[in-house]
Amino acid sequence: MLVPLVSELPQKSKPQFEIPLCIPFINKRQTTSQETKMKIIPIPVLEDNYAYILIDDKTKEAAVIDPVEPTKILNVLSQTGAKLTSVFTTHHHWDHSGGNIELVAKKPGLAVYGADARIPEINYVCKDHDEFKIGTLLVTPLHTPCHTKGSVCYYVVDPATNERAVFTGDTLFVGGCGRFFEGDARDMYRILFHVLGRLPEDTWVFCGHEYTRANLKVRSLSRNCFLVRRRYLVNANCPPLLVCSDRGPPKRDAPCKSRLVSG
Ligand SMILES: [Zn+2]
Repeated sequence: MLVPLVSELPQKSKPQFEIPLCIPFINKRQTTSQETKMKIIPIPVLEDNYAYILIDDKTKEAAVIDPVEPTKILNVLSQTGAKLTSVFTTHHHWDHSGGNIELVAKKPGLAVYGADARIPEINYVCKDHDEFKIGTLLVTPLHTPCHTKGSVCYYVVDPATNERAVFTGDTLFVGGCGRFFEGDARDMYRILFHVLGRLPEDTWVFCGHEYTRANLKVRSLSRNCFLVRRRYLVNANCPPLLVCSDRGPPKRDAPCKSRLVSG
């Protein structure tokens, strides 16, 4: 459904890595013995999409983000022991919301969050910054209308560990952003720099597609653009996970947090 930031780039790029499934990889970057309460499992789906499972380890409550292939998601979920209660839909495009009907049929009673009437099975309409919970995790929907008018990014905070993550769907990728189907450049600028760009610097970003390699081929953009600068911090073998802290000067020798979760 999407193409990279610059239209002349190849429109599809296969994932260059495999992320081990059912690995609570946020735990892997823990340097203390403090128990991590938030787990996020990325699941490659379709050609280059990512779905995610979010688990509050304390309560074993889980949500899924854009579960376009329900069977694959439920197979992974069954290995976690968590109970699925919610679906976060980032926007209505079929490669993100297209699994909702099948998933709700298999798991009746799910709360399906979103901000667009075009999302199948939606039963909770997110208001901007109207916080809700998954177990003990705090979820804040951020309205980011541009790729579609109903696009939402879900910002999640674990109050016990202060871990933070944001699921950006087709609004923000590694090294690029989604196309402006129902907005314009002014909208995207506001979203990138005044909504997502203002999240805490240690926020982990989980995007909706694997476009990293193609996006990082962009040479014409300024090195001062934080989207491009991230190429100093990742390589093609990294999963699409970055923190927002790379807005300062490029640090070639700095530890790359995203590498810690590479598969
Ligand atoms: Zn889309």
